[in-house]
Amino acid sequence: MMPNRISPSVIAHRGASGYLPEHTLAAKALAHAQGADYLEQDVVATRDGRVIVCHDLYLERVTDVAAVFPARNRDDGHYYAIDFDWDEIRELVVSCDAAAVAALVDAAAPAASGELLRICTLDEEIEFIHGLNRAGSHVAGIYPEIKEPRWHAEQGCDLSRALLGVLTDYGYRRAEDPIFVQCVDADELRRLKTELRTDLRLTQLIGRGTDPAHLTREALVAVADYAQAIGPNYRLVLTRDSDGRPIASPLVHSVRDAGLELHPYTFNYAQLPEDVADLEELLVLAYDVLQVDAVFCDFPDLAVGLRDVGA
Ligand code: CA
Repeated sequence: MMPNRISPSVIAHRGASGYLPEHTLAAKALAHAQGADYLEQDVVATRDGRVIVCHDLYLERVTDVAAVFPARNRDDGHYYAIDFDWDEIRELVVSCDAAAVAALVDAAAPAASGELLRICTLDEEIEFIHGLNRAGSHVAGIYPEIKEPRWHAEQGCDLSRALLGVLTDYGYRRAEDPIFVQCVDADELRRLKTELRTDLRLTQLIGRGTDPAHLTREALVAVADYAQAIGPNYRLVLTRDSDGRPIASPLVHSVRDAGLELHPYTFNYAQLPEDVADLEELLVLAYDVLQVDAVFCDFPDLAVGLRDVGA
């Protein structure tokens, strides 16, 4: 089954994370209801080898781990997911603001809401999304990101192999399946293709700090050997001409020449460019000027609405 809409797709960045705590099932349910074509998962590993959905290697930014397990941080102060078993992590409560979480849950939320505001394994999240797909108006794909594979290897965990194991269990095996796997580490993406022999579509992420001089046409052709898309920071692909008009950067032309899809991130209100009035204008530039194939957005309703108006 493919997502209903082909181009451009809306990828719900950490779920509808502009509205609800990132990577909770609540944020994923809202994103699905808002019509997102793909729901994103950042994945890291636990001590007992479970693949969980969490943006950071550590837990304290989005959970109450410091209060529940006060002595379990490393010397750098972080409470790393890989130092905890899944049974411990599942007891933590998630919030946009960990300091406010107890008040949030105590004040209004019934027990079921507590379940929606915790970290989930990737298995749990996929089962939840498949339920939404069966019940909802459309099939949403998934878009997992392998976080820090080298760091995980140093900790004794092959995160990519663990991820592919879960994905295979849930039927994500072929290039036609509604999934992209993303990573910033080019060597790891090549490994997924060659050593781990996956047929799933891959997205090469490209960070804002990347020197555009390294993003040559030849470099993009090399990416196309293993990936189907690139996910650059949008500031690398949207620029202005000498008259101040918004145009696509040379990178976009190289992406097209290499036959890659363009999936820039992250469309939200944080650090909007000075020459863009608001998020709506930025999304319209992505659709009309960049002709993107997909956008990562914290506000799926906005991205879907603007896309469908322009269609
Ligand atoms: Ca991500």
